[in-house]
Amino acid sequence: MNRTLIKNGHVVSMDPQLGNLPRADILVEEDRIVEIGPDLAVTDAQVIDAENCIVMPGLIDTHRHIWQGALRAVCADWSLLDYVRGIRMNAALAFTADDMYAAQYHGGLEAIDAGVTTVADYCHNLNTPDHAYESIRGLKESGLRTIWSYGFNRPPLEEHAFSSLDERLSFARKLAKEEFSDSSALVTMSVSPEETLFWGDDPARGVAQFELARELNVPLFWHCNSSTELNTGKRLRDVARLNELGLLGPDLVLVHLHSTDMDEWKMIADCGAGVSFTPDTELQMGMLWPSTVEAHTLGIPQSYGADITSNNSGDMFIALRMALQVARCRKLEQINGEQLKIGVPYTGEDALAWGTIEAARAIGLEDKIGSLTPGKQADLLLLRTDSLSMVGWDRSNPAGTIMSQCTARNVDTVMIAGKVVKQAGHMKADTAHACRLLEDAHEKVLSRIGGAEALLLDLGESDEKFASIAASADPGA
Ligand SMILES: [Zn+2]
Repeated sequence: MNRTLIKNGHVVSMDPQLGNLPRADILVEEDRIVEIGPDLAVTDAQVIDAENCIVMPGLIDTHRHIWQGALRAVCADWSLLDYVRGIRMNAALAFTADDMYAAQYHGGLEAIDAGVTTVADYCHNLNTPDHAYESIRGLKESGLRTIWSYGFNRPPLEEHAFSSLDERLSFARKLAKEEFSDSSALVTMSVSPEETLFWGDDPARGVAQFELARELNVPLFWHCNSSTELNTGKRLRDVARLNELGLLGPDLVLVHLHSTDMDEWKMIADCGAGVSFTPDTELQMGMLWPSTVEAHTLGIPQSYGADITSNNSGDMFIALRMALQVARCRKLEQINGEQLKIGVPYTGEDALAWGTIEAARAIGLEDKIGSLTPGKQADLLLLRTDSLSMVGWDRSNPAGTIMSQCTARNVDTVMIAGKVVKQAGHMKADTAHACRLLEDAHEKVLSRIGGAEALLLDLGESDEKFASIAASADPGA
């Protein structure tokens, strides 16, 4: 049996019963945590010295489009409309199945290196069956725990590999059988239906995509209420629409949500769905502030994501810190700064939960990941505390220290399902190979488009134009 003893770490368990243990060991057998406590009497295990380290659960990113890693930072000064024009309607078309493999494999390693042990990968560039197969292969080879989402979005290709929605649905069923028959595997399946903008007047198209997830018994990740209608400024009321169609449920993870009315927030709380916010892209691209305060007030399990590394880094410490500070500012604004005298709203502990145990709850995996708890999967990371950026840290508030001070550079060691994938600052995988593959994909995608200057297609500025492009793009619409 494979046994590993992580010795003498400052354990931040995120398990309400265990709490923080300033000096403790963690025994891992195969893929699970079996025991946590001081001075465990174990002699036959491989030892990882965690002296001068915080040991915490692996971070969980519940919203990322990993495939866009091949276009790192191209969106750095873009709006949401620029993003739709530049990536969804343009660059997406230029990705081959090989490019998808490179981006997914590299993206899996990038996440692991940064202490992110689980990603919900919203894979919405499945232009051919091979795009799907290769994106899944890249993830499986990377060793990242991933919930891979079968995205229904359709870039406006000239020739389509799928001639109808029925073909897309059948292919999803085939993939579920071929690639995801083992629900205990590291990479599992979910479904991401198209946004309501692409449904047209008849909801049947969208409903079929939701029903597929229920048929396959997999969760749903869905962009909704991200903005108001471009031309009219009207609220989209996507959540109310799902409610009318009887499609709300606890298997949903709703993403973005800034433009959500109070009656819709109550519908989300009542149906037991989770939510995911992406501070970098929301704050930048007019999706406005992450709805941390609303979710917290109603007790809706909330979680966070990097969204797109074509815009911002995949560093979840930064995403969570941004969420924490924005939520504090919004709350303090509501109460006119009154609380300045007695501490601030929301703590580092809250933010760390949003990236670990609460994220696991939001995506329905609370029994499996999200905390260091005997019986759960051994997904964890070690942060060095004797480095220049951490030495002298506040032992009385480890979560506050992590959330206010750490970035991905503090991640020393990472374990996923009991397997050490990064140790003493070094990745186990051949990262140079992954970087070469990604650089090659980057160059090829850009050259097919005609260079970075040609990314921003001129599509005009109306919703109808996008909708008509999307509709004409799909013969089965
Ligand atoms: Zn997204």
